[in-house]
Amino acid sequence: MATETPSHYDVLQNDKYGRYLVANKDLESGELIFTDTPFAVGPKPDTPPLCLGCYIPVENTVCSRCGWPVCGAECEAAPAHRAECALFAAAKVRFQPVEDWTAAAPQLDCITPLRLLLAKENDPDRWERELAAMETHTAARQQRPTWAADQVNIADFLVDHCKLGSRFEKDLVQRVCGILEVNSVEVPSRVGFSVRAIYPRLAISAHSCVPNIVHTILQNDYQVLVRSAVPIKSGETLHLCYTHALSPTIVRRDYLLESKFFSCECARCADPSELGTHLSTLKCQKCDNGVIMASNPLDDEAPWTCSDKKCQFKTSSAAMRKLLGVVQAELDQLDALEPGPQAIEQREATLNKYKSVFHPRHALLLSLKHSLAQLYGRVEGYALDDLPDLVLERKADFCRLVLSTFDVITPGETRMRGMMLYELHAPLMFLARSEFSAGLITQDQLKDKLQEPVRCLREAARILAREDPASPEGITGQIAQQSMEQLLASLDSL
Ligand SMILES: [Zn+2]
Ligand SMILES: [Zn+2]
Ligand SMILES: [Zn+2]
Ligand SMILES: [Zn+2]
Repeated sequence: MATETPSHYDVLQNDKYGRYLVANKDLESGELIFTDTPFAVGPKPDTPPLCLGCYIPVENTVCSRCGWPVCGAECEAAPAHRAECALFAAAKVRFQPVEDWTAAAPQLDCITPLRLLLAKENDPDRWERELAAMETHTAARQQRPTWAADQVNIADFLVDHCKLGSRFEKDLVQRVCGILEVNSVEVPSRVGFSVRAIYPRLAISAHSCVPNIVHTILQNDYQVLVRSAVPIKSGETLHLCYTHALSPTIVRRDYLLESKFFSCECARCADPSELGTHLSTLKCQKCDNGVIMASNPLDDEAPWTCSDKKCQFKTSSAAMRKLLGVVQAELDQLDALEPGPQAIEQREATLNKYKSVFHPRHALLLSLKHSLAQLYGRVEGYALDDLPDLVLERKADFCRLVLSTFDVITPGETRMRGMMLYELHAPLMFLARSEFSAGLITQDQLKDKLQEPVRCLREAARILAREDPASPEGITGQIAQQSMEQLLASLDSL
């Protein structure tokens, strides 16, 4: 158990959010508001076979006791797997061999619901207190094809095949599936696949596409730490972002409706310009100076129109959705590339291809720039030492563009901001040194210019120190701290 777990929030209830959290005192940015332990952790739906102890991908290795996928003897006895192992062994229900161990295995869809049911039996008080009131959206789920699949793969399987009918009814199994679908969060695992977990208190926090709290999950025990990203006044609602912040309004709202069963009407979704960030904006192909935005982003039937009053160009949200899908598929292919010179060159080519279609800050171009900001200086042929000043400036520009968008859509101390600040320090440092060695600036001016990378590193180190020390962000935070100390020492010796 953690030594001290603060709870700087109250739970309120209204028609819009159901139950939700408000701050019960004034919070500084970065302050720990509460911690929470998962009620259950396990595979996400549609994952390929993975170890039920540690979640690494496995092939042809199963538990000697129950016959379900595990990576080895140690994980056969892992606490996560213990209860279901005994149950599967007793019921003689084995994992059916699959031909392709990299393809989704629906057999595993029952694992997390089963773990939640077993946790309910073990801790009925916590279930009553924290889970029983959770939203399940049963009526909406019943309309979807996944309902029938869950009935067969999970409810029938657990109740009939695993002979759990005396302990759990099928209705309860479906309810648990709904609780997981609506309320669970994705947990990045150290190795292999990400999994999902259900945190009762985190799940109550309301959503906004401009959140004021952030969460981080520790990898050893899956404890979640929830902090304020910005200063929050006592009584203000705590908002978490349930979707990817750097995506355009159509994509965020479709995701929230599909997976969380609500239509987001936050200030960012309601504003055609996305609070001036232009993450959804296109360039007009019919005139020179207009941009294309939704006339009403909250109404799927409303046309997208050109901002130039004389231009008559109109399109539909359906056409926009199609375009976003096509370009996103191209970006997904780029994401699958190994980090190397190609990863940079193909992204630059894609940027070039779409620069006349999208606003320069459109979410899709910005995500390319976000990736490029991280790749320049890190891959073969593009090491920091070798980058010409022009490319260093390009890396710095991309970092600044992304940071200025974060300031609006995910303001305050977030790990994405910490990571981008770390990226920004390097080109600034190299550019200043290059100007000095070319005789363009004096030593005093060099000292002056190096203050900005020091500030970047200091802020990155402070923000990322809150992350799990073994996570990529936590490791970057430690490097930022060391780099700052080295840079300060070199400044002293100038
Ligand atoms: Zn394992
Ligand atoms: Zn087992
Ligand atoms: Zn929204
Ligand atoms: Zn136009």
